[in-house]
Amino acid sequence: MSEKLEFMLLALESSRRALPLCRPNPPVGCVIVHKGKVVSKGFTQSPGHHHAEIDAMSKLTLPIGECEIFVTLEPCSFQGRTPSCALTLAELKPQHIYIAIEDPHPRNRGEGLRILKNAGVGYTLGIGKKEVEDFLLSYLIRS
Ligand SMILES: [Zn+2]
Repeated sequence: MSEKLEFMLLALESSRRALPLCRPNPPVGCVIVHKGKVVSKGFTQSPGHHHAEIDAMSKLTLPIGECEIFVTLEPCSFQGRTPSCALTLAELKPQHIYIAIEDPHPRNRGEGLRILKNAGVGYTLGIGKKEVEDFLLSYLIRS
């Protein structure tokens, strides 16, 4: 198994801890890796509180610019009850972001990725796609 997939599976494991309090938001997990080591983990908190990426970053003590982020779902592009994670990431500029699946939510659907791209933040989509989909798909909003 590739190292990247292992980290994504850890993010997936972390995401299971989001249930049931995260509802109606999807249970998303995130791990932050620094020089090949996991240095922080997070998952979706109850509505109005941190999403997975921000939860993980709030516990990070190392410079985010030296870290890779593994998150099970495309970061949100829109301001809801919480600020947009994609905009926050675009500003903080982690070294790289690995994302398992695109968010089919009509208000996101690639928009979070576009924000990262426009900010020059590198990302890779599709690591652990199948494993994450098996768990996460039924919680996502499509139309
Ligand atoms: Zn978010």
